[in-house]
Amino acid sequence: MPPRPPLGSAVMANPRPRPELTPPWLLPRQQRRRIDRQLHKLLRRGTCSICSRPLKHNSRTASGLDAHGNVVVAGECCVHQVAVTFGLGLYSDRKYDFLQPRDSKPDIEPSLEQIVAAIATRQEAIADADKQFTDIERRGGVKSVSEFFLLDYPWKDDDREWFECNPTRSHRMRVPFPGELDGVKLPAGRKAIVFVRQVEPGQRLRAAFDPDVILLPGAGRRSFRARAI
Ligand SMILES: [Zn+2]
Repeated sequence: MPPRPPLGSAVMANPRPRPELTPPWLLPRQQRRRIDRQLHKLLRRGTCSICSRPLKHNSRTASGLDAHGNVVVAGECCVHQVAVTFGLGLYSDRKYDFLQPRDSKPDIEPSLEQIVAAIATRQEAIADADKQFTDIERRGGVKSVSEFFLLDYPWKDDDREWFECNPTRSHRMRVPFPGELDGVKLPAGRKAIVFVRQVEPGQRLRAAFDPDVILLPGAGRRSFRARAI
């Protein structure tokens, strides 16, 4: 079984080709494609396809076939009802840069134990990050941060330097850096500016705004997406 990205992350904006979710040893290519399409559709729903309950943030999932041969993505609630398991995964409501899929090595097939251990490690990492960011969200006055960035990026350096040079300021507006808004869906023909709020040194919230509406009442609701750090 090839290594797979966490399932929840796989359904979010991702410039890479969609990963194959059905194991090649199981079915002919055409059937695999059909099942893959169904699996991706089910993953986008964010619900357990057996009991229809929403998948819980930072919880395990299993994809495969139920006892009747139906393609399913099960949450922890119904994982025991998956009769043929194609893959194990982790569902997350949020996107974390340190969990994004890296280049896979098709020659390496991790054991089930290794996959289970990798999922457990990621669950811990998400729990740690959530703990860290809950405070930033509360103090930053936002509740809908959908993405977290813990790795290094040019815009983080630039924001840090700007706030260091402007110690009395807690907000900044600037043009986005190349690649900064990858994965953000901008309405056709629109440009975005980035609004940065420093909650404390090293802890910042960013949101991309449409510059034509930011100065209008209620413009805060027009942010394309809030991102932490
Ligand atoms: Zn369920």
